[in-house]
Formats: sequence, C-alpha cells, structure tokens
Amino acid sequence: MKSLSLKINKIEIPFLLAIIAVLIFPFHSFGQNTNLGPAPKVITPGLVTTPPSDAIVLFDGTNFDAWESTKGGGVKWDLKKGIMTVVPGTYDIMTKKSFGDCQLHIEWRSPAIVVGESQNRGNSGIFLQRKYEVQVLDSYNSETYIDGQAGSIYKQHVPLVNACLPPGEWQTYDIIFNVPVFNDNGTLNSPAYLTVLQNGVLIQNHVELKGKTSGEAIYEKHGKLPLSLQDHRCLVSYRNIWIREL
Ligand code: MG
Repeated sequence: MKSLSLKINKIEIPFLLAIIAVLIFPFHSFGQNTNLGPAPKVITPGLVTTPPSDAIVLFDGTNFDAWESTKGGGVKWDLKKGIMTVVPGTYDIMTKKSFGDCQLHIEWRSPAIVVGESQNRGNSGIFLQRKYEVQVLDSYNSETYIDGQAGSIYKQHVPLVNACLPPGEWQTYDIIFNVPVFNDNGTLNSPAYLTVLQNGVLIQNHVELKGKTSGEAIYEKHGKLPLSLQDHRCLVSYRNIWIREL
C-alpha cells in the first residue's frame, strides 16, 4: 500500500476520481429522459463539390445513365467537359429513379452571354417529384415577378434574399424536401415543405407548399416520383448532382 500511495501524485487524483465517478454513475449526468440511442448513422460529410458517402450520385459529369427524357427515350441534352446543358426544344429530363423525402445538391449556371429578359433569361427549373419547382433563372440585376425569380418556389414563395451570382458563374442549390402525405381517400393529410440554400445562403426556410407549381396550385395524390430538370429553351447548364434519401 505504501508503494501504491507513493505513485499517486496530486495530478493523478482528479483523473482517478473521474474514472470512479463514471463507473459508479454511468449516464446519470444526462438526465432521466435523455434518448441514448440508436445514434444517428455516422457518415462522411462532403465539401461543396464532393458528394457525401451515402449520396446517390445522379450526375458526375460522365454520362446520363441516371436520366431519361420526359418524352421517353434517352436524354437529348448536351454533355461536354463534365457539364450538361439544355438543348432547347429537347424537353425536360427526369431521373429514372423515383424519390420521396430527400436532400438534393445541384449546381447550375446561366449563360455568360446574356440573352433575353425576365423569365426568358437563363430559365430552367428543378422539379421535385416533377411537380414542385425551385426556380432556376438569371436573377442577377434582372427583374421579374418576385415569386418567379431564382430560388423562388414558383408562384408560391419569394426567396428570403437574392443570393444570385453573375451569369456564367456556377451556383449551388441545396434543397431539403418533405413530400406531401395523402389520406387513403386522396385528400391531403400533410403538405409538402421545402428548404433551400443558394450558394450556402438560406433562401427558403421550411416553406409550406400550396400544391403543384404549374397551373393551379392544388394537390393530387401521388407516391414517390422522379426529379426533373426543365427545358425552358434557355442554355442553362448543370453539374454535380447528388441526392440523399431521407
Ligand atoms: Mg423555370
């Protein structure tokens, strides 16, 4: 005992007391109602241009394998140097796979050479479930109706700020989508919600959708559906598209 007591100096005493406390009172410091598990899945987060480890990569710049034309058949859009670009008149494209709740990362660029005004300047769109559009538009020093500018939920929600970069520069959207939930009889149980960050800036904060964004804003019962990108006859480009199912 004499030799043991000699080895425990003043610095070691708090350390030993901490170990004894953990052994005697495991978890007590967390409180009675603490949820200790199961813990959220550990993943590797990505940098801006790198998909996280659990993402489904929809476009990495090499092919259109994950996509098809909304008119049927293969994608007619242009693919060069890792970038896809709308070929006007070749229709929207959509994923072959259908999705529900999701986190979507997508990078887009309106043409450096500015053509057109308002809704005809760099117009495209990201349609969650082919029904709910996050607007893509050149809204840098360009006016249009505010619920139709870049980052709007088309004709429903104005973005909180205009976080647009100049035409010709790559921009990011990070989108969190909660699907609408329907009752068995087709009536709406819970609406869809969208959260959008543009270039890292929050522009839509869990906004409630009134229904589809084309035509009358109504809900029609549906399940999982593909993601689609709009051919609005403007030379908008996309790259680095990935999705995480939630
Ligand atoms: Mg559009």
